[in-house]
Amino acid sequence: MPDKSHDILIIGGGIIGLCCGWFLSKAGRTVTIIDRDPTRRESCSDENAGMVVPSHFIPLAAPGVIAQGLKWMLNPKSPFYMRPRLDPALWSWCWKFFRHANARHVEKTKPILSTLSLESRRLFLELADELNFDLATRGLMMLCRTEAGLEDEAKVAAQAAAVGVEAEVCDAARVRELDPDIAMDVVGGVWFAQDCHLDPQIFMEELRRGIRERGGVFLDAECKNFIRKGDRITAIETATGERLNAEHVVLAGGAWTPDLTRQLGLRIPMQGGKGYSLTLRNPAELPRLCSLLQEARVAVTPMGGKLRVGGTMEICGTDLSVNPKRVQGIIEGFCKFFPAFAPDDFAGVEPWSGLRPCTPDGLPCIGPIPGLAKRHRRHRPLHARPQPRPRHRPTRHRPHYQWKAGVGNRNAQACA
Ligand SMILES: Cc1cc2nc3c(=O)[nH]c(=O)nc-3n(C[C@H](O)[C@H](O)[C@H](O)COP(=O)(O)OP(=O)(O)OC[C@H]3O[C@@H](n4cnc5c(N)ncnc54)[C@H](O)[C@@H]3O)c2cc1C
Repeated sequence: MPDKSHDILIIGGGIIGLCCGWFLSKAGRTVTIIDRDPTRRESCSDENAGMVVPSHFIPLAAPGVIAQGLKWMLNPKSPFYMRPRLDPALWSWCWKFFRHANARHVEKTKPILSTLSLESRRLFLELADELNFDLATRGLMMLCRTEAGLEDEAKVAAQAAAVGVEAEVCDAARVRELDPDIAMDVVGGVWFAQDCHLDPQIFMEELRRGIRERGGVFLDAECKNFIRKGDRITAIETATGERLNAEHVVLAGGAWTPDLTRQLGLRIPMQGGKGYSLTLRNPAELPRLCSLLQEARVAVTPMGGKLRVGGTMEICGTDLSVNPKRVQGIIEGFCKFFPAFAPDDFAGVEPWSGLRPCTPDGLPCIGPIPGLAKRHRRHRPLHARPQPRPRHRPTRHRPHYQWKAGVGNRNAQACA
């Protein structure tokens, strides 16, 4: 059995694995990134909406969301669905989500999410100088078709300044002034000027190039087992029986991470939150800003000459299959906001599906695994830069685990 040694082994080549790889390479470490899917079909990172969103400082687990979710469950084209199944992990996740969907949790979480996403934005600006990808810094427009929708978003805007996020409530004329190149059927919106967007595939390709240039290696392999010595993971075993020794192991397996941590005695409350996107290669019109469509819960992002439209949140385990009715719901919602488009424009466009790694409280899981890796042979820092400390103590559900917020959208989860 071949026996290879690696400095840092990262499991998962999605956006989280690549960003860890990039910053660790910059800090002088040699990284090996393994991913089991060379087609990149499994990863959630390639065809998402590409938004960097300080505006998303309110977690999904918020007051009112459960009642709204139950209503949506009855509509096959709605943006939310949870497939009931006899899975204790799902019911435990739902119970934790229910317990977090309150005003106290929102208040506690807002500063964590905003601190981390503003720091993330700062790092994206730095990355855009170092790597060759376009980062559009024109902001995001939360578009509203109804007065009630605009009122709801104005309430969010009113909370933004307190957490350092800029927000401007706009009437329809101001929306048109900020985004003059596309016709919109809206009553107004909220402009979050600090939000940005990019093409995730180009960004990831650049990260891979940068990591390779710094000596990093990519392997097609599946992590099956961990080999432990005392309180350290010393190696992993791949599906083909190969053993890869490593100084440190980083788990970045997206929605599949609980499968990995279970072997290490850690149960992470995480469910796949499935969403879809469709990319128009030659759109009739192109907006300048990325936007979220309030009543439709759809995300719209211009990427070069392309236009990406995405949405839905289906709590569905790790099933990546496409539900055509929900895809139709996204298309119809989009066309209502942008009258230059009709559902026929999407004929022949293949929907992409991805699984957001969703925790019940909307915060990502970052940190050492309890009981492991307490002693390092070398005492060099693992992170390229200090990470902000979480501002709340770990809860009873998550002993020893550090939880910090990342970039995500209101329906979604973390990015770099
Ligand atoms: C429609 C949609 C739109 C979105 N828009 C945005 C947005 O605008 N902004 C934003 O911040 N987020 C957005 N998201 C969320 C974002 O895409 C995800 O949070 C992010 O891609 C997760 O990245 P990841 O690296 O954790 O996981 P992934 O990209 O899923 O990568 C995990 C990788 O690990 C591999 N893997 C798993 N287990 C193993 C194993 N045992 N061995 C080897 N490899 C393994 C998998 O094959 C996969 O390639 C969106 C999501 C969706 C669905």
